Amino acid sequence: MRKLKIVAIALFLQMYFGAGYLYAQTGDVTRQETLRGSVTPEREWWDVLHYHLNVEFLPETKRLKGSNTITFKTLKPGNKMQIDLQPPLAITKIVHGESQLKFEREGNVYWVLFEKELAKGVEDKIEVFYEGIPVVSRNPPWVGGITWGRDDLGEHFIVTTCQGIGASIWWPNKDHGADEPDRGMQTSVTVPENLVAVSNGRLKKTDHDVAAKKKTYHWEVLNPINNYGVNVNIGNYVHLSEKYKGKGGVLDIDYWVLPHQKETALRQFKEVARMLEAFEHWFGRYPFYEDSYKLVTVSYPGMEHQSSVTYGNWFRNGYLQRDPCACGVGFKFDFIIVHESAHEWFGNNISMKDAADMWIHEGFANYSENLFVEYFFGKKDAEDYVIGTRRSIRNDKPVIGVYGTNRQGSGDMYPKGGNMLHTIRHLINDDAKWLSILRGLNADFWHQTVTTDQIETYITQKAGIDLSKVFDQYLRTTQIPLLKYQVSGKTLTFSYDRVVKGFAMPIRVIINGKEMVITPAEAKQTLELPEDIKTFEVNRNFYIDVEKSDS
Ligand SMILES: [Zn+2]
Repeated sequence: MRKLKIVAIALFLQMYFGAGYLYAQTGDVTRQETLRGSVTPEREWWDVLHYHLNVEFLPETKRLKGSNTITFKTLKPGNKMQIDLQPPLAITKIVHGESQLKFEREGNVYWVLFEKELAKGVEDKIEVFYEGIPVVSRNPPWVGGITWGRDDLGEHFIVTTCQGIGASIWWPNKDHGADEPDRGMQTSVTVPENLVAVSNGRLKKTDHDVAAKKKTYHWEVLNPINNYGVNVNIGNYVHLSEKYKGKGGVLDIDYWVLPHQKETALRQFKEVARMLEAFEHWFGRYPFYEDSYKLVTVSYPGMEHQSSVTYGNWFRNGYLQRDPCACGVGFKFDFIIVHESAHEWFGNNISMKDAADMWIHEGFANYSENLFVEYFFGKKDAEDYVIGTRRSIRNDKPVIGVYGTNRQGSGDMYPKGGNMLHTIRHLINDDAKWLSILRGLNADFWHQTVTTDQIETYITQKAGIDLSKVFDQYLRTTQIPLLKYQVSGKTLTFSYDRVVKGFAMPIRVIINGKEMVITPAEAKQTLELPEDIKTFEVNRNFYIDVEKSDS
């Protein structure tokens, strides 16, 4: 029984924390990691303007065959370009204007050589042809690749997932978070004619090659998109749609589900309108009205694919029928709809430049869950929820990963990131200001890629409180501040232990039923009260540990 329980918890943690936890490793940084995770000289001189991915899925042979037309602008002169594509897929040809370019492979990277140096400030494009048998995902979405599955009725049900491992696991691109295609992306997917292919953004048209018994679905995203947010789902899909009147006007909402899921989906997807109402309140308008909002059912729990959120949460509240806070509140909403859609603001609107800063996606998405709860169920439930998720924090490694290597930090980025933000909200202690910070982040970093430093500086400036030590403590160490205190009659003695140098976060405490602010530091302080201290507790919204000592 006990063993079973441990297995179940491990499975839950893995599902809850996602790829971060499988990915983060320690040890020497390899050259391949540096090539993948840093802005190399061969990436730095050009800026992606647009991708047009044209790809055929061949379910019978489990192969991919296609090309990506990469339109770019040169930021400086250059003649050697890095394009990423992971084996066993291989680039077969690269076309530049009338000529074919030479290229050579180094692991997951191709070095592409132009005939002559391209000048600074010009717009140009190459078409990269590729094919092969792609990596099959062993556990989507935590292990990336293609899943050549079947639905309940035995039809093909094929999905792509690539968070962490990267989009180059299934298509050639500049596989680094810092550069998104400024003008968006077109994805043209060819499949056997009896199947439907769903990708990001809007379906512009469908071509039917009757002789070849194939259909090509042309999807288009007008806004910048992060690479791992690009996805293709292929199955016996049917289409449902509705409209939502939101802060940006009328938003088109589309659902792509399997035929037998229609009724249950329509019932459960009522959560979408609630989600939009809550998050447009907290964060401002949905960031991709031009590209619509979409839920696509898949064979794994879910992923934040931009304007194409994937859903596999069994049409039930909670997360795979579990409650992340173990407090009951998690069953009041559909975790996948709320969490993955929160990423449209934190992850897709505001995206990390470097995978080490993944907490910007996951910490805020975890935090967003409690904001959704607050909007519909009030503050107590919201606090119970976010504080309840602390039970999953392991403090095994820092939340921030290793820059320039594509190594993410600890899976703690979810609940610890969320609880750090919750703590900061209570430290600021001004709900109107906090709301303006959340909205301001989404407005001021609209459709941008950012670093942790930018987020820290922004919140610090808007809050008017230096939060640098708070961010250092929770993002860059594995230590949770420990408040040590002693009570002797009317005297309270207190100090922080396990904190970064200079950490002096004010907290609210309740003494004899009355709340007051104290500002502990590493050095001991004493406070004299007019009456004997009978009870002492720390406001639970501050994520710290507390220890009472007797002498
Ligand atoms: Zn997430």
